[in-house]
Amino acid sequence: MKQYVYADNAATTKLDKVAFDAMSPFLMDEYGNASQPYAFARSPKKALQEARETIASCIGASPDEIFFTSGGTESDNWAIKGIVMSDEGNHTIITSSFEHHAVLHSCAALERKGHRVIYLRPDDNGVISANELREKITEDTKLVSIMFANNEIGSIQPIEDLCKIAHSKGALFHTDAVQAVGHVKIDVKSLGIDMMSASAHKFNGMKGCGFLYVHKGCQLPSYADGGSQESGHRAGTENIPGIVAMATALKNNCSQLDENKDRIARLEQELLRQLKETHIPFLRNGGESILPGLVSLSFPGADGEAILHRMDLMGICISTGSACNSQDTEISHVLKAIELNEDYAKGTIRISLGKYNTMEDVDKIVRGLEKILK
Ligand code: PLP
Repeated sequence: MKQYVYADNAATTKLDKVAFDAMSPFLMDEYGNASQPYAFARSPKKALQEARETIASCIGASPDEIFFTSGGTESDNWAIKGIVMSDEGNHTIITSSFEHHAVLHSCAALERKGHRVIYLRPDDNGVISANELREKITEDTKLVSIMFANNEIGSIQPIEDLCKIAHSKGALFHTDAVQAVGHVKIDVKSLGIDMMSASAHKFNGMKGCGFLYVHKGCQLPSYADGGSQESGHRAGTENIPGIVAMATALKNNCSQLDENKDRIARLEQELLRQLKETHIPFLRNGGESILPGLVSLSFPGADGEAILHRMDLMGICISTGSACNSQDTEISHVLKAIELNEDYAKGTIRISLGKYNTMEDVDKIVRGLEKILK
């Protein structure tokens, strides 16, 4: 297989070997249905319970607050639509204009049903201000949904403050933490989060697998009716191999958070140092507090799409905006939301370094950019 430099870890990540080893027995040998009462189903049933406990302990939750889903999109849809449509009334939801489409389109669907959605605008650094939420929120607000960290520019949000403001008006707080879980420390209880979405393939687990944390007191209706899986809240035979891989990958990443963060920070610093040495003008988006390894760069006068394709020819994988947007050549809604100058926005790329990247990868990325942009 051709050797690529993979620098698009915000789009997806490589499955950890420990996660692969942990899930393998459940694919071929221990394939029983965890809902069955016989002895053969005991091992998958035990694995399911252990995975729930592991995930809960990684985010400071209780095992019965973890609901397995098919990924970030499902978790977002469930949390947002579920809470808002849990009774007959029309409600107000507050979110931000630079959320992932899983959140934005869920909110748009609710607007079509008569609910009101207020979109907060991030500042130029991609941060939602607690003051703006304080100004907009009223007793009519049922739900506030603000992402933990943005997927295009990496900016981390003041979640604890936003939660407190939501609660002060009796609203629930949901966060799409798909980019943050497994990469930064998250304790749902101390932050005050009511619901949190996560996706395994963003933290070295498998694609098509995720979870939704739902605080015990939160009355979230069922997502799918059918069998009694997930305490009757999300029917359907569980994806045991995926869930086992997800729990193993999350535990692995959480046990090495600082180590990974430091390693990735060194790669990131080297990338920026080498890039400055080329004297190519650029701007880094996202402000002070950014996810480890997520480097959104704007090159004035350049064409982000063209950079992506020329890097691809050199075997280097990067992105222009979010992966889900790759067919869309327009300026992304995130760059529009932070009101980035059009000349810079069109020349924006996202390099997302992960724990498997090396200094050699960084050298190749900078040499590639130099070749294209000089
Ligand atoms: N939310 C954010 C912030 C994301 O970055 C993504 C994926 O890129 C999603 C939600 C969707 O997650 P999934 O691919 O697991 O459905």
